[in-house]
Amino acid sequence: MFDRGENRYPRWVLKGISGAMTHFFSTIGGRILVLVGMVILLNVAGMVAFYTDNQEKNILKHHEASMKRTAGAISQGLQAVMLRGYADIAQAYAEGLRKVPEMEDFRIMRIDGNEAFQDNKTIESVNKRLGDEEFQDRETVREIRVLAKDDHHLEQVVKERLQAVYYHQENGEEKLTFLLPILAEKPCHRCHGQQEPVRGVLKLTTPLSSVREAIQNSRSQAMIILVGSILGSLLMVGVLIRWSLVRHIKRVTTAMEGVAQGDFSQQIPVMGLLELARMAESFNAMTLEIVRGYSRLNEEQNKLTTIIRSAREAIIVTNAAGEVVLVNPAAERILEKTSEEIVASGFFAVVDDPAYIQSFIERSGAGVPDTLVYKSRVLNFYAATIRNAQGQPIGSSILIRDITEEKRLEDALRTMSYTDKLTSLYNRRRMEELLEKEYGRARRYSLFLSVLFFDVDHFKKFNDTYGHDLGDKVLEVIGRVVKNHFRTVDHSCRYGGEEFCIILTDTDEAGAFMAADRFRQRLQDTDIQGGIHVTCSIGVVTFPGAVCEGWEAFLKLADNALYEAKRQGRNRVLQWHPGMTAKKV
Ligand code: GH3
Ligand code: MG
Ligand code: MG
Repeated sequence: MFDRGENRYPRWVLKGISGAMTHFFSTIGGRILVLVGMVILLNVAGMVAFYTDNQEKNILKHHEASMKRTAGAISQGLQAVMLRGYADIAQAYAEGLRKVPEMEDFRIMRIDGNEAFQDNKTIESVNKRLGDEEFQDRETVREIRVLAKDDHHLEQVVKERLQAVYYHQENGEEKLTFLLPILAEKPCHRCHGQQEPVRGVLKLTTPLSSVREAIQNSRSQAMIILVGSILGSLLMVGVLIRWSLVRHIKRVTTAMEGVAQGDFSQQIPVMGLLELARMAESFNAMTLEIVRGYSRLNEEQNKLTTIIRSAREAIIVTNAAGEVVLVNPAAERILEKTSEEIVASGFFAVVDDPAYIQSFIERSGAGVPDTLVYKSRVLNFYAATIRNAQGQPIGSSILIRDITEEKRLEDALRTMSYTDKLTSLYNRRRMEELLEKEYGRARRYSLFLSVLFFDVDHFKKFNDTYGHDLGDKVLEVIGRVVKNHFRTVDHSCRYGGEEFCIILTDTDEAGAFMAADRFRQRLQDTDIQGGIHVTCSIGVVTFPGAVCEGWEAFLKLADNALYEAKRQGRNRVLQWHPGMTAKKV
């Protein structure tokens, strides 16, 4: 839990602090507070620096001035004592001053830097000057050097007769020293003569520790003011930001979170600063618009749902993951599965053939329907990929139309359009289509192809004898006999009136002749009604025995053969051959 490395605090404490700091700096209030704090810090720090600097200078100046005054007073006192000739008293006075606590050092020096009153040099020169021995010599003589002879402050004081003030370090302590010239004034001349304008120098040294302490105190006070004013300002700014900004933003944020969670009824009271009031107004307008849009969307969705649910077509929709999300009732009906079964089996198994749906979806881009027979229903499939506004697929939809009935009607219609109503055989139009196709195929692949063309004998007379209705019955019976007689691969058609055409695929001359003749016989044997019988004559043509330009000419040859059969006496089959005369038109 505790980091035994160089960190003194547990890691979770550091982590917590760094997290809180990150959070603080990522809030508007935090940022503004830091900014304001920095501005205040710069201003107040500048002011404090200016103030403390001035304060320091003032303290030093004040100290200097008071020292100067002290030194001046001492100098005058000494001079008064000296003028009365009490050098020893002056010396005692100087020694007494040295004991004053704020007085580090006090000396009376001669102008050569040696302490005065320690030898007999001055006494001797004074006595000499006065002519008789006025002053007694000292018993103990000492030479005490206070300043070097060439000390530039000393030289300056002596030369310029002005005081010198200087700061210096001594034993690691800062000191302030005053050097005051003792001027040889007129009353002094009696004993000391006029040669030396400066008689001596007073040296006064005070420690600066107390001054520095005062400066330090002033700095500390300034620091306390600095920190206090910054903290106070920050507190006020913080409260102001919170009151006028953060509080309102928080209200908007809470309302927005509500909207994000689906509560669109959120409204914010319009208050606070102008911008915030406008923000609240805009937010309120936005939520109202969302509510309106949402209800419009709901209405549209309801409409769409109603349309989808009531649609006759099956509609199945999936999401991007391929899960079925919508199944309408028509889908349940058409696929004969419940909605739950469709959802459970999944989109690709709607018709129990995943590979089919997969391949269908892949090729359904053009929206072309695909037809599939499923559970004896004919179904039309349409598929589409649902895309979002950016064009990315977000699901698929499949629409299934049950076209079983349509297909049945279409087939019935097609059959009707191909079929002759009376005989149920193909009609002439269909015959022409089939013959064109089969003749082309026979020629292309060199296959046999035979065409029988037959006509009922003396049918006009039959109608006249038995009536038109029985004539119709004959045609109906012929249709049935034809259907039963010829193969399903053959095409049987009513060419028109009582003329018929049978297309026999892959059938050579012998086969065609045999089939035709058997049919002729079979018709002849068929009892139409009450022992009434009819006969027919048949012309046969076979490819490649007969080769024509087109199917029309080929059919014409069969007609020619039929004509010849009629001519030869009817109720017979005649194979076309090149020598056969063409039918007269
Ligand atoms: P042929 O042996 O030479 O063929 O003599 P035909 O009498 O059959 O002569 P033709 O082919 O010229 O006569 C056709 C007759 O068939 C004319 C018409 O009365 C009759 N017919 C044509 N279509 C129908 C029909 O749909 N129903 C009935 N009942 N008769 C038809
Ligand atoms: Mg005819
Ligand atoms: Mg006829």
